[in-house]
Amino acid sequence: MTVHILEAARVLTGRGQVLTPGTVVLTDRRIVWVGLSRQLPKPWAAVPATARIRLPEATILPGLIDAHVHLSFGGAPRPPVALLATTRMEVAATIHAALRQLRDAGITTVRDLGAPRYIDSSTLADLDAGPRVLTATIPLTVAGGHCAGLGGAVSETAEIDQLVAANATRGADWIKVMVTGGFTTGGRSSPYEPQFTDDQLARIVTAARAHGLPVAAHAHGSAGIRQAVGAGVDSIEHCTWMTPDGFDLDHGVVREIVNRRIMVCPTINHHARDATGRLPWAVRREQLRVMLDAGVRLIPGTDSGIPQTPHDQYAYSLPIWTDLGYSAADIIELATAAAAQALRIDHLTGTLTAGHVGDLIAVPGDPMTDLGALTTPVVVATAGHLHYPDTTTTAEENTRP
Ligand SMILES: [Zn+2]
Repeated sequence: MTVHILEAARVLTGRGQVLTPGTVVLTDRRIVWVGLSRQLPKPWAAVPATARIRLPEATILPGLIDAHVHLSFGGAPRPPVALLATTRMEVAATIHAALRQLRDAGITTVRDLGAPRYIDSSTLADLDAGPRVLTATIPLTVAGGHCAGLGGAVSETAEIDQLVAANATRGADWIKVMVTGGFTTGGRSSPYEPQFTDDQLARIVTAARAHGLPVAAHAHGSAGIRQAVGAGVDSIEHCTWMTPDGFDLDHGVVREIVNRRIMVCPTINHHARDATGRLPWAVRREQLRVMLDAGVRLIPGTDSGIPQTPHDQYAYSLPIWTDLGYSAADIIELATAAAAQALRIDHLTGTLTAGHVGDLIAVPGDPMTDLGALTTPVVVATAGHLHYPDTTTTAEENTRP
């Protein structure tokens, strides 16, 4: 049994406690104890100081969760096209690099929302102690539609049922559906227009439910958002309320999003504040404030893997949430406990709780007063495996046989 005792100036449990100084004990994959350092129970209190991990200037908190990434995209401008031109091995290498980057940036869980046909959970499980991956495997779309190059074009009921069933077999944790077109596909894909009929979308949700899987709906345009809400999806991705010539935020649909407890992941990356052109931040910020005021549950995610959005920039996107009125403490909660709850894994991660999986980070200083601290984790634990992002990879603990 491997035991790690981590002591820090501060431990944020994610359950409303700040322990100063605090200690977390990990054995194998799990957190077994969290508390004030002076209350550390006997067997571990007897461990000599030299055998503990002492972080007297740091804060320990739950690992970060990015609710919207694309592990296999590698920053390509037209990912589905680029992916078709690569081999399975090359995609696996891209995913490995993405997971290393995420891990070293303190992200211990991601939701991967769209991958090519040959990526399944066993490909992800082959990786060395990386972040937890909730995967949607192949997104459902229409022929020639958004990300159709990933292999998920469906139309007839039987095709919908087959692909959802195949994704479930591949280990899908979510079913992703491209309700509208998108920006990275080109051609016939319009982000403003729905791709499916109401009946097709209802069938997709029914098929996902039959496998016990929640549905994540990619929807930019207002018509698509309205359709996704009506079909009863579980999360809306992007949710930009766009029309071909402007914006149309529908307050009635916003109320339905609240009533149905649908989560919205608005995919805010580290560039969001500087955005000009089609979706300037002032417009976006106003939309998000309206949704927040109405009681919509927003969850952070970056869409990393798309162009100009590397996987390790998540912590740089988080201070942007202060523009929506969130405090640093609120933002930390959003990116950890609230995200875990929204993704239905709060029994595993998101807070520092005895019995949970050993996912945590240590950052210099106090992120409650300076969110910038989250950009430079000094220790990252993924399922109890310790990593030191500042040091070379050869210094990493290797607990795999
Ligand atoms: Zn995406």
